[in-house]
Amino acid sequence: MTKECPLCNPPQGQEKVLFSNSVFRIIQVEEPQFPGYFRVISQKHVKEMSDLPVNEQILIIEALSKMEEIIIETMQPTKVNWAQLGNMVPHLHWHLIARYEDDATFPGSIWSSVIQKTELEHIKDREAKAKEAALKITRMAEERF
Ligand SMILES: [Zn+2]
Repeated sequence: MTKECPLCNPPQGQEKVLFSNSVFRIIQVEEPQFPGYFRVISQKHVKEMSDLPVNEQILIIEALSKMEEIIIETMQPTKVNWAQLGNMVPHLHWHLIARYEDDATFPGSIWSSVIQKTELEHIKDREAKAKEAALKITRMAEERF
């Protein structure tokens, strides 16, 4: 835990936490262009995956994999993207994002340049599905972890 780290000390009300235990927490990220965006954040302030004990690594991968299944079944994306960078915030965390052929930056990463505009109707439909996926993710995590 460090004082300056925004993942050790998220500003009040900033994170929409779906689930939390001693190893990780799952949050839903509000990113208007990308409904179906979640993060899994290690509860420990470590930089790399290999800094965690193996049992915690396994739990995190299992959570990500089960979340991916839920996103696929609920949101029918073209692809689910996993990203683990930590260049800006060196506190171990994953981005899990539902991607669609017509989203703003597809086939680039979500941080790539915007190349197209998604129809509002599609965004609205995906927002509703993302809400449903969030509920299922919470239920899954409470049962399994
Ligand atoms: Zn931290």
